[in-house]
Amino acid sequence: MIKIAALKKQYNSTEILKGIDLDIDKGKIFGIIGRSGAGKSTLLRCINGLEKYDSGYLEVNGIDIKKLNEKELRMFRRDVGMIFQHFSLITRASVYDNIAFPMQCWHYNKKEIDERVRYLIDVVGMYEKMNNLARDLSGGQKQRVAIARALSMNPKILLSDEATSALDPKNSESIMELLNNINKSMGITVVLVTHQMNVVKAICDDMAIIEDGIVKDKGIVEEIFINQPASLINILGDNKILLPSSGKNIEIMYKKDDSNNVIEKLIRKFNVNIIDFIMEDYKNCIIGKVIINVINNNDLKKVEEYLKSINIENYKVLGE
Ligand code: ADP
Repeated sequence: MIKIAALKKQYNSTEILKGIDLDIDKGKIFGIIGRSGAGKSTLLRCINGLEKYDSGYLEVNGIDIKKLNEKELRMFRRDVGMIFQHFSLITRASVYDNIAFPMQCWHYNKKEIDERVRYLIDVVGMYEKMNNLARDLSGGQKQRVAIARALSMNPKILLSDEATSALDPKNSESIMELLNNINKSMGITVVLVTHQMNVVKAICDDMAIIEDGIVKDKGIVEEIFINQPASLINILGDNKILLPSSGKNIEIMYKKDDSNNVIEKLIRKFNVNIIDFIMEDYKNCIIGKVIINVINNNDLKKVEEYLKSINIENYKVLGE
């Protein structure tokens, strides 16, 4: 659906994108994360043709964006909806008019506009507020209207630039749920830039980590979080917990469906203490993360062998 190769972009002779390589599959929700200033928004603007790039290749829906003239670019951009952190609504216009606006610009007839707007207002759950002014809505409601407006031209791709970042946790969650439903029911590919890990974990299938203008790591969300590459640690920080100074400490991550009762098995078989344990919900699975303390150093090898025998490869001995 989206193919990006060796993409480069400069601002005022500073290279911001330094050779981005990324493939995004149709129908997926794809998360792009990275520190502030890494180039995420710039990349998103290149994908929807708002920003020109200097070199490399960028194909969206089978279209090589660089080859488009101004008119073709405008046509292309109808197929790409976009939502932003601060909604970008016309604050003095009604919910209805905000959603109708793109179609009015493209001279759709009134009946078509009315049908589509009413349908979308229903999809985003704003039917009751149809005639309210955008400025009188809460943040979560504004983002719902912005999503409906982004869908008005029936796009194949929805780009989201920090769409949940300005919302409180409850509204953020309901917007995530809405994006997830839209992706499922309409089959729209969603590419979202965020700095919120909970968003990536809850609704993304695949993800990429951008660091200093390049894609450092990419893949299936759960696998990236299980493998914990350095690029991810750079964003998350090394969440240090107080570890026992004697014995050996091992951090183990596993998919719940792979190996249930990992902890029980370890406790039954070995002389170990549980130092920390969390289970986290991801879009497609549950991941367990446990830190154990192997009381007797000599048991370390046996524990490692045992983990391998039950197909748990993602563990590390801390402090080594
Ligand atoms: P991110 O979304 O990862 O926070 P951005 O893509 O917004 O990063 O910005 C990457 C870098 O490019 C930043 O240093 C930013 O200041 C710079 N930048 C972004 N847009 C422009 C612009 N229009 N003109 C000049 N510099 C820009």
